[in-house]
Amino acid sequence: MKELIKEGLKRQLKIKYGTDIEHANKGEIFSSLSTALMETIIDDWNNTTDIYRERKQAFYLSAEYLMGRALGNNLISLKLYDEVKELLEELNVDLNAIEEAEEDAALGNGGLGRLAACFMDSAATMEIPLRGYGIRYSNGLFKQNFKNGFQYETADNWLTYGDPWSIRREKEKVIVHFNGMDVYAVPYDTPIIGYDSKNINTLRLWKCEPIESFDFNVFNSGRFDDSVLLKNKAEHISRVLYPNDDTREGKLLRLKQQYFLVSASIQDIIKEFENLHGTDYSELPKYVAIQLNDTHPVLGIPELIRILVDEKQVKIDKAIEIAEKIFAYTNHTILAEALEKWNVEFIEELFPRILEIIEEIDLRFIKELVEKGYSKEEINEFRIINDKQVRMANLAIHIGFAVNGVAKLHTDILKDIELHNWYELYPDKFQNKTNGITPRRWIRLCNKELSSFITELIGDESWVKDLSKLKTLEKYADDKKVLDRFMIIKKEKKVQLAKYIKETSGIDINPDSLFDIQVKRLHEYKRQLLNTLYVLDLYYRIKENPSLDIPKITFIYGAKAFPGYRRAKAIIKFTNDVANLIDNDPVVKDKIKVVFVENYRVSYAEKLFPAADISKQISTAGKEASGTGNMKFMLNGAPTFGTMDGANVEIVRESGEENNFIFGLTVEEIENIRGKYSSKEYYEKNKDIKRVVDSLIDGTFNDEGTGFYKELYKSLIEENDQYLLLADFEAFKLAEERVFKAYKDSEKWAKMCFMNTCNAGIFSSDRTILEYAKDIWSIKPIQNK
Ligand SMILES: *Cc1c(COP(=O)(O)O)cnc(C)c1O
Repeated sequence: MKELIKEGLKRQLKIKYGTDIEHANKGEIFSSLSTALMETIIDDWNNTTDIYRERKQAFYLSAEYLMGRALGNNLISLKLYDEVKELLEELNVDLNAIEEAEEDAALGNGGLGRLAACFMDSAATMEIPLRGYGIRYSNGLFKQNFKNGFQYETADNWLTYGDPWSIRREKEKVIVHFNGMDVYAVPYDTPIIGYDSKNINTLRLWKCEPIESFDFNVFNSGRFDDSVLLKNKAEHISRVLYPNDDTREGKLLRLKQQYFLVSASIQDIIKEFENLHGTDYSELPKYVAIQLNDTHPVLGIPELIRILVDEKQVKIDKAIEIAEKIFAYTNHTILAEALEKWNVEFIEELFPRILEIIEEIDLRFIKELVEKGYSKEEINEFRIINDKQVRMANLAIHIGFAVNGVAKLHTDILKDIELHNWYELYPDKFQNKTNGITPRRWIRLCNKELSSFITELIGDESWVKDLSKLKTLEKYADDKKVLDRFMIIKKEKKVQLAKYIKETSGIDINPDSLFDIQVKRLHEYKRQLLNTLYVLDLYYRIKENPSLDIPKITFIYGAKAFPGYRRAKAIIKFTNDVANLIDNDPVVKDKIKVVFVENYRVSYAEKLFPAADISKQISTAGKEASGTGNMKFMLNGAPTFGTMDGANVEIVRESGEENNFIFGLTVEEIENIRGKYSSKEYYEKNKDIKRVVDSLIDGTFNDEGTGFYKELYKSLIEENDQYLLLADFEAFKLAEERVFKAYKDSEKWAKMCFMNTCNAGIFSSDRTILEYAKDIWSIKPIQNK
């Protein structure tokens, strides 16, 4: 194999770039090596596609896939990493540097998109016939940089050097009709390579292109710009992830994207079905299950019905019945602003026939509810169209045969509170599927040192696809030699991270300090601000008492703020200003340090999780549906410092309360203080709280006239602190004291970290995807032999 790949690499360098290994740059080597590897997998890929077609398949519809880099991961899955590393060494090339030359495919915002990516990997490895459908945004999530503490965004041109890991399937393009405009959806297929398996699944991403690339006659008449108007209009549809939807145009574009994704995907699914099984559409549910990742692809429901009724002459009753057996819906959040509603007017403007179908579903549903004896008020809660808006979640829950939450606590909240009426109406639809993460990327690839050690202890590498085996390591929990090695590896990963931060941002951090890491999208409910208020309080306390007994700590943050989300941007600026304050203080700067890393993304995450001593998961209880970052930290041996929220609850149940730092109000306690909470009381009674909150407005910091700090102050005091930062502040401080105490006892600390790794097995997305396959899709693994 090694020689084959070497030959392939040389050949590709020659064909693609007209160069050779001595003269090629890293990007060229990355691209050529990737293509050489593609050559070796095509047969297995095609075979897998063929055998999957014989039986029922599941299709994952998602607006987001946060894939990150492909090369390293694929080499691990192909079990070729060491061989390729060697062959490059023989050519005087460092594989690591080549991996670093790859741009992240950042076609997602955060957890939801990364979950989709982990599911793709797990389905392939578990040999589950699952195909992903999404949009091939030509610009992914923006790139972030800081100037004077403020976030700035620039376009992410991830395709500048092409994408060697995808194949354009010109022959399989389809036409998507909008009111007044037709476009092509052209599929780009990416192989998803099963680890230690010959199964290779497919992620199919659609690119939007015009039917005519330009208008020849308009061009000839000299109106060059006008001749490509339609081309541009079409290409906007797959240009960026979640265009800012503050404006009417932005909203319309986003809705177009959603329809573009589902129309192309459903056409593709039906075409494949017809080719293999004919035109008895009542058979569709025997071969097809479609998972809707959140509400973004919910228009797939009326689109399927439209195609069946308008193009395949299926009666509407029958078409609805078929849809009811095909679609399943995953709910990812209970935050009201994230539950999508679309103006009826927009849907009518873009795809009037889809609106007619939604109206038909709504009318039938009302009739059903009336027959069941529901009151008008109750029916209004259920209605799909209400107040001139289409409620996407309602459509999904009503038609879908399964609705799942993403962690036990989240599903319980759905059943008991948020969707309680629906749960009473359709109790059998509700299920829990606790999220997971793929062990290939989140330990085997990103922590090769720890992976080798685990393999040594277990005896072979089978744990990489059966993560429950980690539990057997518990027998070493008091073995000093094992714990020492474990902590030496942690130190090594901290040194590597420190080196990377130094190289990329010039900032020095001390690998002998405690690395306390909070990385995740910036959102008020995730409470990065609480963390920063704590750090500021610590700063003031050290000023008061320079001999305060605390370990050296580095607080590391990573987060992008959505471009239109002012408060999120204000929190970044505030945290950077606190970092500055500390850096410029000779007394404090040797004790604590704050670093906000720029452009947090999957490839950065791979460096951060293994280097953490503490995993910060401090959302307001009830707000974080699951979290998956928490699982990545746990797997890499970091105790959770967190609230009883999302999957933290299950993490603590698995690894033990004594091996984590749990603090703060619980969901129940929050329910109980609802209506009674006053942040002003906390502010007035607690002088430490007052001190840090006042620093927002007393001139300690300068937000350069943006009004950012007044805005944060307002959220905490005048708006009564929606996310209960001040209510949890004291408990947070006490929990930090517990961390300091535990950290002092290095043997006890090592055991806490180790126990987290030992008990992370259940959070493999292999387990999650097998649950979806069995409980929702009713499909079994099929092996490509
Ligand atoms: C895992 C991951 C997330 C999700 O993090 P949470 O803490 O669960 O919100 C977001 N972004 C990236 C890049 C990730 O790898």
